Amino acid sequence: MYNPSARKAEEFINHEEILETLQYADANKNNLPLIETILKKAEPRKQGNGYVCSGLTHREASLLLACEDETVNQKIFQIAEQIKLAYYGNRIVLFAPLYLSNYCINGCLYCPYHLKNKHIPRKKLTQEEVVAEVIALQDMGHKRLAIEAGEDPVNNPIEYILECIKTIYSIKHKNGAIRRVNVNIAATTTEEYRMLKEAGIGTYILFQETYHKAGYEALHPTGPKSDYAYHTEAMDRAMDGGIDDVGLGVLFGLDKYRYEFAGLLMHAEHLEAVHGVGPHTISVPRVKPADDIDPNAFDNSLSDEMFLKLTACIRLAVPYTGMIVSTRESEQVRSRMLQAGISQVSGGSRTSVGGYTEKDRPHDTEQFTVSDERTLDDVVRWLMENGHIPSFCTACYREGRTGDRFMALCKSGQILNCCHPNALMTLTEYLEDYASEETKRIGYRLIEDELKKIPNPVVLERATAHISDIKNSCRRDFRF
Ligand code: SAM
Repeated sequence: MYNPSARKAEEFINHEEILETLQYADANKNNLPLIETILKKAEPRKQGNGYVCSGLTHREASLLLACEDETVNQKIFQIAEQIKLAYYGNRIVLFAPLYLSNYCINGCLYCPYHLKNKHIPRKKLTQEEVVAEVIALQDMGHKRLAIEAGEDPVNNPIEYILECIKTIYSIKHKNGAIRRVNVNIAATTTEEYRMLKEAGIGTYILFQETYHKAGYEALHPTGPKSDYAYHTEAMDRAMDGGIDDVGLGVLFGLDKYRYEFAGLLMHAEHLEAVHGVGPHTISVPRVKPADDIDPNAFDNSLSDEMFLKLTACIRLAVPYTGMIVSTRESEQVRSRMLQAGISQVSGGSRTSVGGYTEKDRPHDTEQFTVSDERTLDDVVRWLMENGHIPSFCTACYREGRTGDRFMALCKSGQILNCCHPNALMTLTEYLEDYASEETKRIGYRLIEDELKKIPNPVVLERATAHISDIKNSCRRDFRF
């Protein structure tokens, strides 16, 4: 029985409800008057200084996804961009993954780290190696990491993860510092989530891989991850353990995308219903080639066009949720995704254990083949050339503006007086410390233009003064 407020996976991700949703979408996909009302509902509306959005239910969004009308599709992309600009402005947050260990006792059929894969060396970073990797990441200019590890209670117990987090936060190298460590590790207990919270993590990220229970069980034949309910209920345990920000995701390509799309939105609705706040982020990874993995073995790949539309439809459904695209996607696809509502991208990523300290990209422990191999400097310049502000800001978390408090900031329209100047100040730090001459030139021109958008004169004055201080090598830990 479908119940978004239930705590049992099979009730909030209810198979029958998903099938009925898909039937409803098929039955109504040519019902243009109904689609018009849904599009109207999705549009951001001006309210006071800010914007409000209603979002869409999984049924409404599934109907938009099913509709093949070209004009409707264009309208979906248009609204996705409007929502992105209303809530996040033209800022794009940057991060990089850091692989700690590829030891894993699971049998996931799509992942090269699966237990039976004997082709790959198994590696786990020592604390000295964590330091070296983090210094390499800081020297690129990164301030925000997502740590990744296989599931192995003997080799990667929670104590190891906590020790790595402590090490990462302790490294102050030149002007570098990692200010936010997001964590992508296997589903665990409320007690261990509490420990992660106490260690000061940012978002806890866990991809569902697939919401289709039978498909999930076939793809995860062995190991602790094979328990569908335990995996699906992980975000509830994380929030019970005090973690405010959780990040959802599906590994697109494993199962039918329309099913996954409905399941993903039902998961977001469930978190909102039970915990009063939806997911902080949604990631949209697609399955990629890797050692021992041929993505063609999964019969559910979706075209770039449909992938882009699906991203835009998520943006309409959950307007306050950050959306992440990784280097699994090429520069070309990522460029288009930026117009479909994406708010965070990774840059300069290496997906192997110890990859950042190697001169050439190592492939032996790579989790998947990266399609965007550009350096962080290239990615920063590319974002600016396309009218975006690359942001290294992490102030919200330090100020406690997470979860529902972050959403309140979006709704009150204070983003331009807060996140916007913070983004410009952190970009200035990046330009001064790490950028190439060309990136610096483009960056300073952009900052000059963007400062003009700050509405509050006091904020403008302080931001301008602070940017000038940074340029004169005077650093203060100041954010709005
Ligand atoms: N071991 C943890 C878990 O089970 O959730 C951490 C996740 S793993 C390091 C990060 C994610 O990479 C997985 O959740 C999966 O979605 C993704 N992944 C695994 N194999 C992949 C592949 N061949 N192509 C693209 N992404 C892949």
